[in-house]
Amino acid sequence: RMSIRSSGSSTDTLSSVTQILTKLHKDCATPVPVLRHVADSMANDMRAGLAVDGSSDLKMILSYVDALPTGNEKGLFYALDLGGTNFRVLRVQLGGTDQRVIATEAEQVSIPQELMFGTSEELFDFIASGLAKFAEKENGEFQLSQGRNRELGFTFSFPVKQTSIDSGVLIKWTKGFAVSGTAGRDVVACLNEAMKRQGLEMQVSALVNDTVGTLAGAKYWDNDVMIAVILGTGTNACYVERTDAIPKLPGQISKSGTTIINTEWGAFSTGLPLTEFDRGMDAASINPGEQIFEKTISGMYLGEIVRRVVLEMAETGSLFGSSIPEKLQTPFSLRTPHICAMQQDTTTNLDAVGSILFNEAGIESNMGARKMVLEVCDTIAKRGGRLAGAGIVGILQKMEDDMEGLIFGKRTVVAMDGGLYENYPQYRTYLQDAVTDLLGPALSENIVIEHSKDGSGIGAALLAAANSKYKP
Ligand code: BGC
Ligand code: MG
Repeated sequence: RMSIRSSGSSTDTLSSVTQILTKLHKDCATPVPVLRHVADSMANDMRAGLAVDGSSDLKMILSYVDALPTGNEKGLFYALDLGGTNFRVLRVQLGGTDQRVIATEAEQVSIPQELMFGTSEELFDFIASGLAKFAEKENGEFQLSQGRNRELGFTFSFPVKQTSIDSGVLIKWTKGFAVSGTAGRDVVACLNEAMKRQGLEMQVSALVNDTVGTLAGAKYWDNDVMIAVILGTGTNACYVERTDAIPKLPGQISKSGTTIINTEWGAFSTGLPLTEFDRGMDAASINPGEQIFEKTISGMYLGEIVRRVVLEMAETGSLFGSSIPEKLQTPFSLRTPHICAMQQDTTTNLDAVGSILFNEAGIESNMGARKMVLEVCDTIAKRGGRLAGAGIVGILQKMEDDMEGLIFGKRTVVAMDGGLYENYPQYRTYLQDAVTDLLGPALSENIVIEHSKDGSGIGAALLAAANSKYKP
């Protein structure tokens, strides 16, 4: 029996906390039939999005990447990655088939919170100035080929309607960004204007989503890579599609061959097991009704869902006694790295759980309460990981339907990146378990999920090279 610190109605308290947990388990349950329904719906929504623009939650965006890096690329290329909490800059010296990557150098800068709510100019000036400072530090290891300008692969990890390999219009911001004046604009033009203001001479040769950069980067080393998934602050997936399976393909693109499709699966919503806590978080978000899959499985949101459940347990169940700390009432005070760290606690007294709850949420907890919080964390991480796994199976299924035997019948690699996948072992295990549950042991043996760390930076530089303005 769990002991509760508060006096008085400790039996009532216990039963209502337990009731909340029982209901949470039920609402978040992901048995195989639920996962199968999610995978099937993902495959169906993919087809709908490929047929006609706007007919599906999934935008199925054409990346205009049909020239994937071959290994022959040579020269100096830059990449810039704007996606979530950080932006990264990178340069790489490519040496062609034998030498491949001769040298790389990268820097990471965190994005000041206020820029996420500022103007488009402010944000782009900030990143262009970071890029300019980085470019100034280029040393003799890196060499620009004669007669060329510095070229850049621009990884922009938001939904963009591409108009060519080096242009595209921002559809909407996600992941808490609310920058004014960018939606509806060509983000390459935004960057070009800011680079001009900085006096920086560089040419954007490829505009890519982070999933697409990851796919290109991973495929450069391993040709079996067919899908790339990001599980970080936000989430998304892209994959290699046959152009003849894309009814909405614009006339100028050849019907024979393959291209990369950016699914924007964060906007998926069919058949997800959701709770009142998800609905509350969505309603309070800056993009209500949007990015529902992302809000259920990605790093920006898992901690906040847990906080909302724990707050309810504190309010109606007095889980931590009679007073409710202000911190616990503050949105996003508990973040995914915290719930992840709590789940790694192996001490007998759950000391780490206790100190995280105290430091981040202002809560003084006893053993029973700590166990209860861990149950909540596990339930939310499990649902997220398993649903992400089901999404991957949905994509695999769609590909197998159109390329019989070429997906399940051989080794197929899913390149994975993002802090959530990288740092949260339980989440990773739940994801893999769901894939195995759905495919069965035999088929899942051919499906390899591989961590491709920071592959999108190199990938974007490689795509800039493959789509260079200075083709011989
Ligand atoms: C964006 C995607 C991006 C993903 C991962 C989502 O919020 O819409 O474009 O790929 O986050 O960074
Ligand atoms: Mg990123």
